[in-house]
Amino acid sequence: MNEIEQRLQDLERLGLSRRLRMVSGPQGPRVLLDGKPVLLLCSNNYLGLADHPRVREAAADAAMRWGVGAGASRLVSGTMTIHRRLEDRLATFEHSEGCVLFGSGYLANAGAIGALAGRGDAVFSDELNHASIVDGCRLSRAEVLVYRHCDLDHLDWLIRRYGGSGRRLIVTDSVFSMDGDPAPLIEIVELAREHGARTIVDEAHATGALGPGGRGAIAQAGLEGEIDIVIGTLGKALGSYGAYACARAETIRYLINTARPLIFSTAPPPPAVAGALAALELLEERPHRVQRLRSNARVLRRALAAEGVPLEDVEMHIVPLIIGDERAAMSLCEKALERGVFAQAIRPPTVAPGTSRLRLAVMASHTADELREAARAIGNAARKLGLDLTAMGSSLATPPQRADEREDREQGLERYVPAFAQATLTTVSPARSPAPQAPSANVPFDGERDIVVHRAA
Ligand code: PMP
Repeated sequence: MNEIEQRLQDLERLGLSRRLRMVSGPQGPRVLLDGKPVLLLCSNNYLGLADHPRVREAAADAAMRWGVGAGASRLVSGTMTIHRRLEDRLATFEHSEGCVLFGSGYLANAGAIGALAGRGDAVFSDELNHASIVDGCRLSRAEVLVYRHCDLDHLDWLIRRYGGSGRRLIVTDSVFSMDGDPAPLIEIVELAREHGARTIVDEAHATGALGPGGRGAIAQAGLEGEIDIVIGTLGKALGSYGAYACARAETIRYLINTARPLIFSTAPPPPAVAGALAALELLEERPHRVQRLRSNARVLRRALAAEGVPLEDVEMHIVPLIIGDERAAMSLCEKALERGVFAQAIRPPTVAPGTSRLRLAVMASHTADELREAARAIGNAARKLGLDLTAMGSSLATPPQRADEREDREQGLERYVPAFAQATLTTVSPARSPAPQAPSANVPFDGERDIVVHRAA
């Protein structure tokens, strides 16, 4: 058996094997999945705009007018009128001085972090930040200090202790992708100000989903103009593909000159850009879609609560049902599918080992009846498997603190390491010299969240 076969077998054995499922037709609330009709409950097409007739038409027209590919990177010949048009529109939407498009949210995060932090600088990153932020931190070669999820004391302590003499950057999702909880943006901005740190906030799951007119969590918190770089994606609520960074004009000029994923990658294709522009226009014309998404989120949460899952009665559109065990999460996914509901199981390394889950994503295009039907199907599937619905409601991926951790905390948080990070971890505290460990046998692949406190090699 060769090494690749061995690794695939390991994944299978650990309940971590993945395969691609195929959706026929557009990303509507009901799709054909591997040929079977199901209710779709795990798409980020939050506002239902990916298949909106005006969005499709705009993309088709753009293909006829400008062609399919941009042909070159933005800095060579790839900047076309449609790129500029969307950038201007996004800057207005975000109440920002400037905007620049990237190929994807993954590339935008990598580019923005790399531009604001490099060797000798320090990046402070929430432990549940998206993998693209984690990878952006690694690529930046800055020193990466991971703070406990949304823990401002820990963040403050890390900055004081390890802020260094170089540039400082705090980076966070505004709505966490796998838990749906919001970051404490107001306090983060205050801390950043106090410590002379810059901020990058990733609004991937907030744009179009919350805030006035769907302008995101930053606008909701009244922080427009206070964040150094705002990242948004076109691939979720805006129904297309690609991403953007909004910032002061000078920062945008700086990104254009330094962000490697922008410099060294082909510009986004005109049909995708035009599709996003049409989606943005629809969002601005009909902001009621955002309200619909939010009330749908409440409908689903209440229906799941009626099934016995203790969920907060809030309007957050990402609803994690924490199962724990990897295989149990897969079984629930399959059983729900048998009952006509598709909610993909999310397992490590996307989430921490032992916190595998169904991540339910509501869309504005679902009907309330569809969401109630989905909750019943999932409830029945879970009961059939003997799973405890009352234990599925915790959205906090970080395990509860142990007594000895609390003690450490009082002693200055020095020894804190999130449990799930220990498996692959390089080092615990920058005070001690980093001693890279071999990846644990339990985690055959390098995880997305495997940095806690590490120094760049
Ligand atoms: N940031 C977050 C928080 C995300 O969830 C994602 C995608 N899941 C991205 C960035 C990457 O965006 P894109 O899909 O446009 O690459």
